[in-house]
Amino acid sequence: TRRIKIIGGGLAGPEAALQAAKRGCEVDLYEMRPTRSTEAHQTSDFAELVCSNSLKSESENTAPWLLKQEMRRAGSILLAEADATAVPAGHALAVDRVEFSKRVAERIAAEPRIRVHREEVTTLNEADPDTLTILASGPLTSAALAGELQRLTGSDHLAFYDSISPIVEASTIDMSKVYFAARYDKGTADYINCPFTKEEYERFMEALTTAEAVESKDWEKFPVTGTAEKLQYFEGCLPIEETARRGRDTLRFGPMKPVGLTDPKTGRWPYAVVQLRQENLRADSYNLVGFQNHLKYGEQNRVLKLIPGLENATFLRYGQIHRNTYIHAPSLLTESLQLKGHAGIMIAGQLSGVEGYTESIASGMLAGIYAASIANGNAPTIAPRLSANGSLTHYITHADTKKFQPANITFDLLPPLEEDLRKTIRDKKERHKLQCDRALAAWGQWLDTD
Ligand code: FAD
Repeated sequence: TRRIKIIGGGLAGPEAALQAAKRGCEVDLYEMRPTRSTEAHQTSDFAELVCSNSLKSESENTAPWLLKQEMRRAGSILLAEADATAVPAGHALAVDRVEFSKRVAERIAAEPRIRVHREEVTTLNEADPDTLTILASGPLTSAALAGELQRLTGSDHLAFYDSISPIVEASTIDMSKVYFAARYDKGTADYINCPFTKEEYERFMEALTTAEAVESKDWEKFPVTGTAEKLQYFEGCLPIEETARRGRDTLRFGPMKPVGLTDPKTGRWPYAVVQLRQENLRADSYNLVGFQNHLKYGEQNRVLKLIPGLENATFLRYGQIHRNTYIHAPSLLTESLQLKGHAGIMIAGQLSGVEGYTESIASGMLAGIYAASIANGNAPTIAPRLSANGSLTHYITHADTKKFQPANITFDLLPPLEEDLRKTIRDKKERHKLQCDRALAAWGQWLDTD
C-alpha cells in the first residue's frame, strides 16, 4: 500500500485525508499556515472559510442541494460537520466558521492514520513509487509549489488570475441609442447592443489602450518560471485592454463583433458592438460581455462612458482581476483526478477547476475515495455521470478547452433530459426534480460498489 501525501489543509485536503484514512490508508497532511499564509486566510485553522460562511442552497431539487445530498449519502465528513454547526440562513446552509474549523480539526486529531505536518511543500516528487500525492493547495497555492506544478504541466496549463466584467445599472443606460437583438435573430433577443460607428470605435480604442492599469501588487507578479513579470491568463479570459493592444481590429473580430446584429435604425450591422447581458432576474443590472479588465476604477469610468448608450451610466461594479490558481483540467486531468502524464499526482479542490466551498469539499471527497483505491493497487470506480459529483468532474475534464473557467455546480453540467421529456414536462422545477431523482438513483448504485 502506498502512503498518501496531501498538500493543503483547506477544504478539499482535510476531506480527502479523512476519506482515505477511513478506508485504511496512512496519510500525511501538509499545511503551510501558520509558517506562511495566503492573501485571504486569517487563521491557521483547517477548513477555514476565507470569505462568506455559506455552503449555498438547501432548497430541494436545486443543483447545490443535490450536490450536498450526494455528499451526505457518501459520508462526507466536512459536510457532516457543516450540518452540525449550521446557523439560521433561510434556504441556505451557513455555518459557524470557528466551530466548523474546530470540529474538523478534532476529526483530524482523532484519526490515528493522519499525520499532520505544518510546513510549506515546495517540491513535487512525481517519480516516487511509494507515495500518492493529492495536491489540494487551493486558489492561493504558494509560489514555489505553483512553480513545481508548472514544471510538471507546462507553462500554458496553469492560470493565475481570474477576471470579472463591469456591471452597469439598467436605468442609467440611454435606451434611445441601443437595441435588443440576438445574433442573426437566433433565439430570444436578450442582449442589449451598443452600436459603434467607425469614428466612435477608433476613439474608444485609443482611450482603452492608453488608460492606466492597476499596479500589480507584489503577489500579482506571480511565480512564474520563465514568465516572471507577466500576468498569466487563459486565452478565453484575457483582459480587454490586453486584447485591444494586439491590433486595431482584434476587438471588432472578438468581443465587439457586430456580425448578425442588425441595428433596427439603420437596417445594417454596425461597425462594432458592445453587448450587455442581463445580470439578475429583476433585469436592473447588466454586465458588459467580455469586458473583464485591469484598469483603475476612475479610468474605467472614463473609458466605458465612451460606449454609445453608456454616456451617463452608473457602474455597480468595475472590472477586476484577482489571483485564482487553477490547472487547465480538460487537457491535464483524468476522471480519477490524476495528472495525465504523472499518475502519482492527483489534484483536488479549487486548484482542479471546481469553484466554491462545497464543490471543493466534494472534489476532496472523491479524491480521497479514489486515492484509497489507487493506493491499494485498484482502479477507482468513477462517480456516475448522472450524479452532480460525477457531472462536476465530467465538466472539468471535458470542458471546451479554449474557454475553460472554474465551475460551480449547476443543472447545465448534468446530462440533459431526453427531448420528449423536455417537451412534455413544461415546468422547469419538475424537470429539475426528475434530474435530481435520476442523479440520486445512480449515486446510490455507485455507493453500493464502493
Ligand atoms: P483552500 O481552502 O484555499 O485550501 C488550500 C490550503 O493549502 C490552504 O490552507 C493553504 O494555506 C495551503 N497551501 C497552499 N500552498 C501550500 C504549500 N505549498 N504547502 C502547504 N500548504 C499550502 N467560495 C465560496 O463558495 N464562497 C466564497 O465566499 C468564496 N470566497 C472566496 C474568496 C477568496 C479570496 C478566494 C481566493 C476564494 C473564495 N472562494 C469562495 C472559492 C473557494 O471555494 C475557496 O477558495 C475554497 O477555500 C477552496 O478550497 P480548497 O481546499 O481548494 O483551497
